[in-house]
Amino acid sequence: MTSTTRGTDSASYTSTLVRAGVAALPLLAAAHAAPVISSFGPLRNRFLPGLAGQGKPGHIALTFDDGPDQLSTPHFLRLLDARGVRATFFLLGSMAVRFPGLVREMAGAGHEIAVHGWAHRPLLLRGSRATYDDLARAQDSVGELTGAAPTLFRPPYGVMTTGTHLACRRLGLTPVLWTAWGEDWRARATPRSIRDTVLRDLRSGGTVLLHDSDCTSATDSWRNTLAALPLLLEAWEARGWRTGPLRDHRQA
Ligand SMILES: [Zn+2]
Repeated sequence: MTSTTRGTDSASYTSTLVRAGVAALPLLAAAHAAPVISSFGPLRNRFLPGLAGQGKPGHIALTFDDGPDQLSTPHFLRLLDARGVRATFFLLGSMAVRFPGLVREMAGAGHEIAVHGWAHRPLLLRGSRATYDDLARAQDSVGELTGAAPTLFRPPYGVMTTGTHLACRRLGLTPVLWTAWGEDWRARATPRSIRDTVLRDLRSGGTVLLHDSDCTSATDSWRNTLAALPLLLEAWEARGWRTGPLRDHRQA
């Protein structure tokens, strides 16, 4: 399916929603609260555990955003390969088309390929149609590279709007955020601060957000993330937790 035909579906879907608007007012009011709840980690983890990526006890879902990046991603792939660990990569469509060989390499190595949108812009500032087009373009372009349309989506900055929820439903994308992050995008982050920040919030069955590219972060921040990764894998192993992609993370 192309973005164009999807766009037509989206338009008719939207007009159906508008016709049903009066009846749906309470629902829409509740939906407006969703970006707030989904953006604030403690609220999200408590009230939206599925969206936050709370999964199987004893399993940690390892996820990376903002790649692929020829400069940094190959280092992560080598480290993960050496450790026998598979992860989920939420790719930016705009980056994926720049490094198509890298996307195929990631998929070929057994990593789970998901999408982070086409452009890294806050969806709160975009209309429903623009949001839909952004997601559809990312899903189409990444799917063409791997041969399978991605089914998982993580919004830039973790902000889920009503339009994003609707776009995900139309595209067969499941949104997944995270239960713990390393604040690895910050210029002042160190491998130790990344490890400590993740471990502070992480519980058994959690989903961890890191970045394998600095395209939206402080320059060279990926080097700290890369150095933190063995520290994290060792900490999880010491707790008896296994690490893998989100596809292995669902509750039985
Ligand atoms: Zn991002």
